[in-house]
Amino acid sequence: MQKRLLLIGGGHSHVEVIRRFGLNPEPDVAITLVSPDRHTAYSGMLPGYIAGHYRFEDCHIDLETLCRSAGVMRVKGMVSGIDLQRRIARCADGTEHAFDVVAVDSGSTPAIAGIPGATQHGIPVKPVPAFLDYWATLRPAARKAITDLRIAIVGAGAGGIELALAMHNRIRTDNGRAQFTVVSDGPVLLAAHPAGVQRRFSAVLRERGITLRLNAPVQTATADGLVLGSGEVLRADHVIWVTGAAAPAWPRESRLQTDAAGFIVVNAHLQSPSHECVFATGDIAVMPATPRPKSGVYAVRQGPPLTENLRRALRGEPLREYRPQRRALALIITGDCYAVASYGPLAFDGAWVWQWKDYIDTAFMQRYRGTPRELS
Ligand SMILES: Cc1cc2nc3c(=O)[nH]c(=O)nc-3n(C[C@H](O)[C@H](O)[C@H](O)COP(=O)(O)OP(=O)(O)OC[C@H]3O[C@@H](n4cnc5c(N)ncnc54)[C@H](O)[C@@H]3O)c2cc1C
Repeated sequence: MQKRLLLIGGGHSHVEVIRRFGLNPEPDVAITLVSPDRHTAYSGMLPGYIAGHYRFEDCHIDLETLCRSAGVMRVKGMVSGIDLQRRIARCADGTEHAFDVVAVDSGSTPAIAGIPGATQHGIPVKPVPAFLDYWATLRPAARKAITDLRIAIVGAGAGGIELALAMHNRIRTDNGRAQFTVVSDGPVLLAAHPAGVQRRFSAVLRERGITLRLNAPVQTATADGLVLGSGEVLRADHVIWVTGAAAPAWPRESRLQTDAAGFIVVNAHLQSPSHECVFATGDIAVMPATPRPKSGVYAVRQGPPLTENLRRALRGEPLREYRPQRRALALIITGDCYAVASYGPLAFDGAWVWQWKDYIDTAFMQRYRGTPRELS
């Protein structure tokens, strides 16, 4: 009898699952991808797109084309819950999708739920399509501005710093007017990276005239800007939220095993310990035995072992264990075709580091274009 594999979200792991099932189809398995958008962003190139180095199609995977070429059905939808007894995923528009095995790779969004006014006054960097729509209106606004627009980026991790530098570079080349401030509750920028990386980016921000406000937790967002922990009001016309990752409510509401933050717990098989028909990878998953940062690198690496275990689960075979790599190389861009490499305690930089990153990212994207044969 035909088995049904349901993929929720076209994230970094699932594009590889689709590619591999396309190259080597599993007999008697019907695969469906549920995704709200036709295109999914490759996070590694997103800041480069904002900076003006890439076109939209360079840094987005066309899920419709990928699925068609791999024999996977794509349906438009935003999953809002799973009925684990009936094995049905429900979408926000009321449609339902039955499965025998389900995999979740639907990412995360910036954590802003605890900040009053955050959704009304500001835009989170994810979901990416809404952020890109916002960016498309911000650029002409900065070009027309008579005085500098005040733009606050909340979050001083790699995403926040890259985004601030990329937006700054693009607005400058547009001849737009804007003043940037990066705000963080922590005592240092790029807390997950070594001192050499932190020093380099502090210097770059200073050179570009971007203000860095550390130890400045945002309490509230208002029409005037951000109220900080000290009571100070940081005036801002535009606020971009690039804070740490938050999970959606639906996995916990569906009674899947989650951690305290609501992320789906998975074991070394990338499988839910509470429900063996459920697998999860990427930002939405957490492996308590081998915790790793929420980063696209890990989501990409989980693609091949996830594919293997989905095949095995569908065939009723024993699953294989996966151990994530201990550390990952991060290549962080400065917005002007220059990048800093961060690996364990090491830091180095150069235009060649940007070229190296460009080569890796472009090669990655190439795998998801064309027919299954060309994808190998
Ligand atoms: C500015 C910025 C730069 C970054 N740069 C890097 C980098 O250089 N390197 C790196 O390793 N990491 C980077 N990251 C982190 C990276 O974005 C995430 O770790 C990565 O995207 C997680 O991948 P994922 O597969 O979990 O999900 P995502 O890539 O977020 O994909 C999830 C997909 O699921 C869809 N989806 C969401 N909810 C649902 C739902 N309910 N139902 C169906 N579909 C759904 C979304 O539309 C999306 O297409 C960056 C983050 C930011 C903000």
